[in-house]
Amino acid sequence: MAEKLYIYDTTLRDGSQGEGISLSVEDKIKIAARLDRLGVDYIEGGWPWANPKDMEFFRRAREVTWRQAKLTAFGRTRKPGGRADSDPNLLAIKEAGVKTAALFGKSWDLHVTAALETTLEENLAMIADSVAFLVAAGMEVIYDAEHFFDGFKANPDYALATLKAAAAAGAGWVVLCDTNGGCLPDEVAAIVTRVRQEIQVPLGIHAHNDGDLAVANTLAAVKAGCRQVQGTINGFGERCGNANLCSVLPNLELKMGYRCLPPGQLSHLTEVSRYVSEIANVVPPGNQPFVGYSAFAHKGGIHVSAVLKASQTYEHISPHLVGNERRILVSDQAGASNLRCKAEELGVELSKEKEQALINGIKEMERRGYQFEGADASLELFLRKTLGEYRRPFEVEYVKTLVEKRPGREATSEAIVKLKVGEQVVHTAAEGNGPVNAMDNALRKALEEVFPVIGRMRLTDYKVRVLDEKDATSARVRVLIESRDGSGSWNTVGVSTNIIEASWEALLDSMEYALLKQSRNLKPN
Ligand SMILES: [Zn+2]
Repeated sequence: MAEKLYIYDTTLRDGSQGEGISLSVEDKIKIAARLDRLGVDYIEGGWPWANPKDMEFFRRAREVTWRQAKLTAFGRTRKPGGRADSDPNLLAIKEAGVKTAALFGKSWDLHVTAALETTLEENLAMIADSVAFLVAAGMEVIYDAEHFFDGFKANPDYALATLKAAAAAGAGWVVLCDTNGGCLPDEVAAIVTRVRQEIQVPLGIHAHNDGDLAVANTLAAVKAGCRQVQGTINGFGERCGNANLCSVLPNLELKMGYRCLPPGQLSHLTEVSRYVSEIANVVPPGNQPFVGYSAFAHKGGIHVSAVLKASQTYEHISPHLVGNERRILVSDQAGASNLRCKAEELGVELSKEKEQALINGIKEMERRGYQFEGADASLELFLRKTLGEYRRPFEVEYVKTLVEKRPGREATSEAIVKLKVGEQVVHTAAEGNGPVNAMDNALRKALEEVFPVIGRMRLTDYKVRVLDEKDATSARVRVLIESRDGSGSWNTVGVSTNIIEASWEALLDSMEYALLKQSRNLKPN
């Protein structure tokens, strides 16, 4: 049986220190609940004394039934010259209503004398007193040795003495922190090996990513004997972030053979990564390893044909192991195999002649500025139309837009749409906060009368890209629209020298696709 590692998530505490990340108490409860289901062993909820929001989190967390994760309250060792039993920060941890405490203290002599302005002996007493106080309160104490690796490099004997003080006082874990994130994997491995010879308490690793090595340092520390792994979902954290659990976990389980999560849970990693990004309101990078949207996207024609024959030719793991999926991108770089694969996805049979017609068609569209990689729904409509197996469920007779701007007043926009559904003629007008919004409203109003499904979709993103910038205002533009309903999202594209026309084209595709999707009850990705 594979050896078990203990996973300690600090997305809610260290992760929320990241620039641009602000989590409400409600957000934190949601993320913690999702992490609990994923099966991490510890969830660091926050620092109850330093932050009233974190105190509130622990109050709310008491009302939740946690499946397996141990909620952990964070804090620091007592003040120099003070007492542990009257230290408000330690009392807040004790009163947080959780059974585990993470306590950080100094291991670098420079920090003790320069930052804390106390003696090396007093720092050892602060560590021992604080750990002992929380242990006496019945808590499991995880001792975080801040700046441990830098401290060890400066004064190994003293750095080790701080760990021994925590261990002797009853800490259940001693966690070695690369707080400044500048260590190299071989240094980490050598120092962890050395610490293991001196400390009997199980060790953990907490790495920051300033040298882009947090994941590598974490793996090296595990290999050298650390059994607790700290990190954050998506590597969130201050400066360059913390060790990214979305990379650490699959490497440990799939490449190194450890057991981190309950069986089957690794396949929820992509979903958890996206869920946390969504709640934190951060756009996840497409090229994020393992869980990124592009992590298993294949574009070049040769790659695609090889991947379809034997996936390991261009994939280091099978995407479903981490809950991600393979994507075949259709573009003019690609050959027939991309298209064949796409057609297969859509359940369409392709003859050689049809295939060639489609390749030529796509190349022509791309020459005119269309790009289907980000517009799956328009691509599907294009394929179906080219194959002659699809008819638009309505015909547009015309669309008119009117924008009026008078001095001292806000501009107003209005759109008029006339369309035919079978023999029925629908004629509507609507206003909007701009011409595209007015067209969306008018088209929606017209179609909703006949197709109620249109009422359940909405536009969620609208992007414009200028294609030939040197032609300034006469340049062609590409408009990309993202739409969403209860079961998923889809993307459409329009291209024209007229931004209104390009937008209209993408809007029409979006609504047509909603109808096509409903008629096949198909779930887009
Ligand atoms: Zn940290």
